[in-house]
Amino acid sequence: MAFTLAIIGRPNVGKSTLFNRLVGRRVALVDDQPGVTRDRREGQGHLFDLEFTVIDTAGLDDVNDDSLEARMRRQTELAVRDADAVIMMIDARAGVTPLDQYFGDWLRRGEVPVLLAANKAEGIAGEAGRLDAYSLGLGEPIALSAEHGLGLDELYEFLNPLF
Ligand code: GDP
Ligand code: MG
Repeated sequence: MAFTLAIIGRPNVGKSTLFNRLVGRRVALVDDQPGVTRDRREGQGHLFDLEFTVIDTAGLDDVNDDSLEARMRRQTELAVRDADAVIMMIDARAGVTPLDQYFGDWLRRGEVPVLLAANKAEGIAGEAGRLDAYSLGLGEPIALSAEHGLGLDELYEFLNPLF
């Protein structure tokens, strides 16, 4: 069975942008507005010589739904269950939020290898948020820019030994 990588994290951190970059097509909807319906998507990703299945999680699909947290948790759990490795993404410019802590606490209890990625880290604006992310207890956060393609070497170094 193909190696499967799940990209998880709260809405708007840049998960679909990374998914699109790995898959190489704009198959996942990227939107500035949190709350736009975004289903879980799967695609064939590649990074240098590695080929794998990527799962993009939506995080939520209705900000007004009062079962929001339950639905996010369920969707994330399903993706992680199917995954051989997980990218836990935060927004380096926003820093660590309570929702990031929620996901982080849950991942720390699991068995699946996790790469913590502080996205939107192009330029210097993201460095404080990246350092903040050490507090999640998921190891060293890598500086990523899904939009500009920075940090992909570190992503490769994480994935390659797992194949
Ligand atoms: P998702 O909800 O986690 O899937 O996030 P999206 O991929 O839809 O991206 C949310 C917003 O963040 C969009 O406006 C993206 O263009 C923007 N974004 C994604 N990656 C980056 C990045 O590396 N740097 C910056 N500055 N913005 C980004
Ligand atoms: Mg998305």
